[in-house]
Amino acid sequence: MAILAKGDVANLFSERQNRGMAITSRRYSNGEVTVLWKPELCQHSKRCWTELRAVFDPQKRPWIDVQAAGTAEIMAQVRRCPSGALSYELRHGEAGPGS
Ligand code: SF4
Repeated sequence: MAILAKGDVANLFSERQNRGMAITSRRYSNGEVTVLWKPELCQHSKRCWTELRAVFDPQKRPWIDVQAAGTAEIMAQVRRCPSGALSYELRHGEAGPGS
């Protein structure tokens, strides 16, 4: 699979929206933070699961366990996702990158 540059990902996102194609978004909530996962945008950088394996483990289903770390730690890791595949929403309305 080819690795997409950041601009390519943005173009892919726009192209899917222009064609009316839905971007898949899966949600994982611990009641305080909800992590959103958009697989079509993932660049497979491995950053999430090499830096916070307790939460992001591609060997498990579901692969995101938001009970396995604190909300602040999860938010910090999500912000390090280079592609926008990961984002978050807080219960009181704040949203993280890509959401
Ligand atoms: S950090 Fe983002 S781009 Fe990298 S593997 Fe995780 S979800 Fe995909």
